[in-house]
Amino acid sequence: MKKKNIFVGIDLGTTNSLVSYIHDGKPQIIPNERGERSTPSVVSIKNNGEILVGEMAKTQAVLNSDNTVSNVKLSMGKDVKYNIIDKEFTPVDISILILKNLKENAEKYLNTKIIDTVITVPAYFDDNQRTATQKAAELAGLNVLKLLNEPTAAALSFGFNKKEESRLLTVDLGGGTLDITLMEYKDKKFTVKGIGGSTSIGGNNFDKAIIDFVLEEFKSMHSFDISQDKIAYQQLVIHAEKAKKDLSSANETKIMIPYITIREEGPIHLNISLDLNKFNNLIKTTLGEIEACINDTFEQSGIDKDWVDSIILAGGATRVPAVETIVNSIIKNKNNKNTKKGKPENVNDSLIKRDINPDEAVCLGAGILAGIFEGSIPDMEFCDITSRELGVEDDEGKMVVIIPKGTSYPLSVTHLFTTTQENQDEVIIHVLQDGDNTGNIKDSDQKMVSLGKFHLKVAPDKKEGEPNIDVTFTINMNGILKVSAIDLDSGQAGEIIIRDKQK
Ligand code: AMP
Repeated sequence: MKKKNIFVGIDLGTTNSLVSYIHDGKPQIIPNERGERSTPSVVSIKNNGEILVGEMAKTQAVLNSDNTVSNVKLSMGKDVKYNIIDKEFTPVDISILILKNLKENAEKYLNTKIIDTVITVPAYFDDNQRTATQKAAELAGLNVLKLLNEPTAAALSFGFNKKEESRLLTVDLGGGTLDITLMEYKDKKFTVKGIGGSTSIGGNNFDKAIIDFVLEEFKSMHSFDISQDKIAYQQLVIHAEKAKKDLSSANETKIMIPYITIREEGPIHLNISLDLNKFNNLIKTTLGEIEACINDTFEQSGIDKDWVDSIILAGGATRVPAVETIVNSIIKNKNNKNTKKGKPENVNDSLIKRDINPDEAVCLGAGILAGIFEGSIPDMEFCDITSRELGVEDDEGKMVVIIPKGTSYPLSVTHLFTTTQENQDEVIIHVLQDGDNTGNIKDSDQKMVSLGKFHLKVAPDKKEGEPNIDVTFTINMNGILKVSAIDLDSGQAGEIIIRDKQK
């Protein structure tokens, strides 16, 4: 007899997507049909209707940019439509195509069915973005066991197989998102202590800074605006990203695009030098935003920076040297508060752990959690925290908080409620979550998001405030919220289950 299905972890990345599973008790990346460990999150549809996903779609993007979609993750849960060959596609539609491709490749490689998955999402994905991701997975034929926050996944991957305790700061900077997690690993148990980040900061901001610089330089040299020429601009986008990557390992790079445009006097080539100092200057604003987000995360979770004993850098964009410098300096400034002036110490350089691969850590962490669910990694426990306030609506339309942001789960909390009118024979239990939707935590406009509601009959003929109604919020290990209510006098009860919405 052979097991028919295998649980997998999927990192559905802005730029690249990866799949992993547990093999011989360890997480392993599943290569795609080209033998590559990651697949570009790019979809392209040819005029004849043929759908290309991954490297094939990416390589022809320059010639077929109108019918190619990349960075779809940044549009998940948003009202965005892509018009491809006279047909409208939503971000969910595009994500389905990517997920189907990943599923099919993994099924071929493992020669088995893939259904149950743990899919990673940025910690600061809001309810709509999570629901959209889950919907795409389900429509691609996958069952989502849990949407796991990306930096948590990276920390899982680091802590896995470590014997000693660790107190981890994970900074995960991808193409379009920054996720920060504080996590403890102790006695084979992972506990998330704090989360933060932004859905508008990532490696794309660095590319954009280079693009804007080149546009300006080229305009002043040749009075030509490259952004007005679609194909030329697309080439610049690719070369800007390449230049950024060059500057992760070199002090200077050249952005060279021959024949970028043709004028009466002949062809014009783009040839602009960029050194690390200049690049660091160009990305100053984004670096400041990264710093602010990390500081906010410590502040909001009430954890001191001295607490950190290991730093994990995940996501391709943490390879930018200035990002590492910023992360180091935030922790170092705090930890070195007693250091004598003029004696800089490098004690914290060692806090950055380099024994994980930033491109694969998130996916491997998803594979580990899939393995915990599958039962192929015994003894290991995982304890997550809520990233939003949860509560019920009161008679004034305000939210009564039942589970504050940052609360560890699994847990169960009960609060006592009552009626506001005489002879009231029914109450509405309206479950709410705070609507911290986009960007920096500080930008949150405290809009409430409805997660669901139900009516509960209460014993009649009671005065206002007399009935005793217990409302219980329970979040299980997978993050599924159940809200139940019971009128203690009549015994009437009701409940609602909200699946993977509240994290
Ligand atoms: P991810 O979503 O984790 O794959 O991160 C993708 C982002 O990392 C993109 O913005 C990439 O351009 C960026 N990236 C990948 N490799 C490097 C590198 N060597 N140096 C700087 N940025 C990189």
